[in-house]
Amino acid sequence: MKALLLLSLLLVDCRNITPPADTATVYICDSRGSKRYHLSPNCKGLRTCSHRVVKLSLKEAKSRGKTLCGWEK
Ligand SMILES: [Zn+2]
Repeated sequence: MKALLLLSLLLVDCRNITPPADTATVYICDSRGSKRYHLSPNCKGLRTCSHRVVKLSLKEAKSRGKTLCGWEK
């Protein structure tokens, strides 16, 4: 069951997601150089993250100065 969920998440194309509300959950790479937030935890942009991936609200991501990742515009 867990593997099936993971597989379905991998199939999400992050470019086709509509802009979310401020309360939506987004993902950031927990590293100093990271300036982007991601709508999908499986976005190409997050695959290069060598640190922990952190889940937070869009509002919080924006307050940290994050902008939407280039793959998801
Ligand atoms: Zn992304």
